[in-house]
Amino acid sequence: MSQTLAIIKPDAVGSGKAGKILAHLEGAGFSVRALKLLSLSAEQAGAFYAVHEGRPFYEELVEFMTSGPVIPMVLEADDAVPLLRETIGATDPAEAAEGTVRKLYAESKGRNAIHASDSDENAANEIGFFFSDHERLGIG
Ligand code: UDP
Ligand code: MG
Repeated sequence: MSQTLAIIKPDAVGSGKAGKILAHLEGAGFSVRALKLLSLSAEQAGAFYAVHEGRPFYEELVEFMTSGPVIPMVLEADDAVPLLRETIGATDPAEAAEGTVRKLYAESKGRNAIHASDSDENAANEIGFFFSDHERLGIG
C-alpha cells in the first residue's frame, strides 16, 4: 500500500460535485486516510504550486485555488500515485479519457476539478503540506 494527495479544487466544491468525486475515488479502489475542508491563502497556494512559478498560468492558478474552499485528502491504494493519475485523467478535460474524474467533472484545463501528486516524493511533501502525522491514518 502507498499514499498520495488529492485536492478537490474550488470549481468542483463550489458546484456541489465533491461528494460524487469522493464516491468515484472510493469506487476506483482508494481508502480515505485523512480529509479536510479549508480555504487557501494566496501565499499557501503559491507555495503549493511553487514548481510552476513563472509559467504563464501561474497567477491565474493561484487566483483560482484561492477562489473558494478546497478539500485536500490522503488516499491509499496499491501504487496510489499512478493509480490516482490514471483515475483523474489528463490535465485538460478535452484530452482526458472517458470515465476519468476530469472528463466527468472538470470545466476546463485550468478549472479541472482535482489535483493529484505526480511522484511518491511529491506525494510525501504534499501530504505534509496539509496534514500533520496525527491527522493522517497510517499505511496498512
Ligand atoms: N494549468 C493551467 N494551464 C496549463 C497547465 C496547467 O491552468 O496550461 C493548471 C491546471 O489547474 C493544472 C495545474 O495548473 O491542474 C497544475 O499543472 P500540472 O501541469 O501540474 O497539471 P496536473 O498535474 O494538475 O495534471
Ligand atoms: Mg501536477
